[in-house]
Amino acid sequence: MTTLKFNELNLSKELLKAIADLGYEEATPIQSQAIPVVLEGHDVIGQAQTGTGKTAAFSIPVLEKIDSSKKVIQALILCPTRELAIQVSEEIKKLSAYKKGINALPIYGGQSIERQLQSLKKGVNIVIGTPGRVIDHINRGTIKLENLKMIVLDEADEMLNMGFIEDIEFILQKSPETRQTLLFSATMPKPILELTKKYQKNPKIVKVVQKELTVPLIEQTYFEVREADKIEVLSRLLDLHNPKLSLVFCNTKKKVDDVSLSLQARGYLADGLHGDLKQLQRDKVMQKFRNGLIEILVATDVAARGIDVENVEMVFNYDVPQDIENYVHRIGRTGRAGREGKAFTFISGREIYKLKDIQRYTKTKIKLGKIPTINDVEERKISLLIDNIKEVINEGGLEKYTDIVERIVGDEYTSLDIASALLKMTMKLDTRDEEEVQEIENEQEMTRLFINVGKNQRISPRDIVGAIADKVRIPGDLIGSIDIFDKFSFVEVPREYAKEVMKIMNENTIKGKKVNIEIAKKK
Ligand code: ADP
Ligand code: MG
Repeated sequence: MTTLKFNELNLSKELLKAIADLGYEEATPIQSQAIPVVLEGHDVIGQAQTGTGKTAAFSIPVLEKIDSSKKVIQALILCPTRELAIQVSEEIKKLSAYKKGINALPIYGGQSIERQLQSLKKGVNIVIGTPGRVIDHINRGTIKLENLKMIVLDEADEMLNMGFIEDIEFILQKSPETRQTLLFSATMPKPILELTKKYQKNPKIVKVVQKELTVPLIEQTYFEVREADKIEVLSRLLDLHNPKLSLVFCNTKKKVDDVSLSLQARGYLADGLHGDLKQLQRDKVMQKFRNGLIEILVATDVAARGIDVENVEMVFNYDVPQDIENYVHRIGRTGRAGREGKAFTFISGREIYKLKDIQRYTKTKIKLGKIPTINDVEERKISLLIDNIKEVINEGGLEKYTDIVERIVGDEYTSLDIASALLKMTMKLDTRDEEEVQEIENEQEMTRLFINVGKNQRISPRDIVGAIADKVRIPGDLIGSIDIFDKFSFVEVPREYAKEVMKIMNENTIKGKKVNIEIAKKK
């Protein structure tokens, strides 16, 4: 799959600077392929799975193509949900940090229409909106499409699933014939293809397909960790497993710098590797890593490409990689030549999605790991030390040292005192308070909810999943285990959705029945 550097894409220096600030090291495959054709003015159908950077694939050329001196709506981006509209508009804000005169406005239901009207009056050149609310404004005459140059249908398959197809057609029919139409989607079901036939002109198809990937036999584990706790968890895992050489992968250059500095500050032999370093510096770092002068190498995917070091015992995905292929490349760095290797992946919040994709495409199982406690780490350090001491005793040649001990031993000190003091001098046991530790352990992904309907109401797991997926708009496969009893049921949902699920479901029905749903009492 070909990828390009952003500076190979003929972008303005304002955009390049903003992209550099974002820490994107190179364009993803969909970006590499879509950006040039969009810049050339073609209609485009872009297909690539979730998490592959489709937002920037259209946002970058949109920002390049609109005339920022004109405060009229030139680009309209349609998204399926409020969250996505906000996400896209945030990405556009970041990408346009150095481009003057860009005024991008998210428009979605639920937000006060008055506020939207005021913002629209100020003069906006890009609107990012959900179809329903955009139509409201078109009907009121507060969004005018006469100057529209580009229209983007983002996550088209999702919009279809949500029943927006007629709304989209309405908007397309209202927009000028001369517009450029871009459509991005993870999948291309038939109705979407029909939409493209009807409303696009000779669209260029940019499709990034996932290759069949075979994953080497490596023990794969993931940990649910908040961003802020990642460095602590990484340290504990390093202490617990004590690998000679390990690789830590991050998604951006900035992260590589941050993580390698934090590790150094914690006393690890760590250093970072990324594309901003001069070749000479990179060679030096690599040399040290090969010689074991650096034990932990923190790197971006790009910088780590082509690295071939034997004996890498562990790979850490500090961030979940951009695409699945990178995951496979990353973990393939360990377990070379039939040796055992381990791969640890940190996920936070919604990244569980990406993990599910990775498992599906690679047909492997990544198991959930328990974050080691400070006690686990300490026990391990102690047992390593004990082994070490026994070894030294067995080697012999202790006479000179025994002489010194004898000089201290007397009425006041026993040899046990001396041995303990020496241990205190060589090893530092952790003195951090347990509360800090507890917080990480309590990190839990799923929240168990109680629903006051069950078998007696002829409720099945499908009814529950169906209702939640439909009303709350969370993918069914994110919903966890379901237990149905006679009069009530339990369902697990990702913690970050729990509030929303309760709020929305309490106003809705399951199989026509009004329900009461609340957080389940702890067992
Ligand atoms: P999609 O719409 O394909 O699901 P997104 O556009 O939401 O994916 O991007 C997923 C993540 O990848 C975002 O966090 C985004 O900031 C990041 N990202 C996008 N492009 C790049 C890049 N070139 N390098 C590194 N990260 C990127
Ligand atoms: Mg997207």
